[in-house]
Amino acid sequence: MSITRKISQLKVKSHNITRPKFPAIDFHTHFGKLLGAMAGTENYFDLYETKDTIAEIKSYGIEKVVNVDGGFGDEYLRMMDKLKDAGDFIINFGQVDIMEFESPEFEAKVNKVMGEHHKNGIKGLKFWKNIGLVLKDSNGNYLRPDDERLKCIWSAAAEYDMPVLFHIADMNAFFTSANEENELIETFRDHPEWLFNKPGMYSFDELMEMQERLLEENPKTKFVIAHVGSYAENLGQVGRWLDKYPNMYVDIADRLSELGRQPYTAREFFTEYADRIVFGTDLLPMDVERYPIYFRFLETYDEYFSYRTDKGVPLGDWNIYGIGLDDTTLQKVYRDNAKKLLKIG
Ligand SMILES: [Zn+2]
Repeated sequence: MSITRKISQLKVKSHNITRPKFPAIDFHTHFGKLLGAMAGTENYFDLYETKDTIAEIKSYGIEKVVNVDGGFGDEYLRMMDKLKDAGDFIINFGQVDIMEFESPEFEAKVNKVMGEHHKNGIKGLKFWKNIGLVLKDSNGNYLRPDDERLKCIWSAAAEYDMPVLFHIADMNAFFTSANEENELIETFRDHPEWLFNKPGMYSFDELMEMQERLLEENPKTKFVIAHVGSYAENLGQVGRWLDKYPNMYVDIADRLSELGRQPYTAREFFTEYADRIVFGTDLLPMDVERYPIYFRFLETYDEYFSYRTDKGVPLGDWNIYGIGLDDTTLQKVYRDNAKKLLKIG
């Protein structure tokens, strides 16, 4: 059962923005499988044709994309073969074999893979919530994002000046009870496996403390904390982190539902932290139609419109408002900040 949306009878100005006002780099796209897959996640690898997908993305005025599914080893080779006709349109982020984190050779293996990534032109690393919410060590404890054993990865990333895109937590509602008061209850009726308020799991606040420690203890590593620093519902808090940790950046992927229901706060946040926010959509090759919604949110003052495509994940049952950003902010968010992080001209 999915959310049945009520039809709004509101008649207000509406803009159909099919291309961004300035060239854009999508910093968060998926062209392969989600590593360390969790229930309900998919392998997108076989579901698209590279050339067609790239043509479709370009038709929306996107200049380049960052594919976060570069992987490592054989997975990397398979991915690169699939993307061989992409030219420099696709920038790849890689991973390391996180499953090996308890092996005494882990650090040596990390250093070897990182050397290969550097040689292969990999521009950054991607990690996600299997660290914190899925993987356990041999004592039965969930692997913490700030675990000492992972420090060798962050050090190597700093050494090669590769940004680390890290998806640490989901919305707060994923960590609370799935009762009628939960604002995402319709989502959890369809996907009970997405709930994390289970015995033994870290709470949202605990994960945020770990996220902060990760930033604090690895000041030379640039972290792009995905989904508006894991906390789009509390931009005041994300702002305080950005003030405190100069190595922190955020993407806005898949959080229009949150950003667009607080347009005044979001506009202030984008303006104040314009140098630290990158445009990203969490794009899946089968759902390229999401771009115009992002452009409309960022560029217009349109009111009360849907934040998702038919294929997008239904989150809260509400609509969003545009934040009409100025040109300087738009240019930084759409492209300039990404270029600096990726060190491309
Ligand atoms: Zn993603």
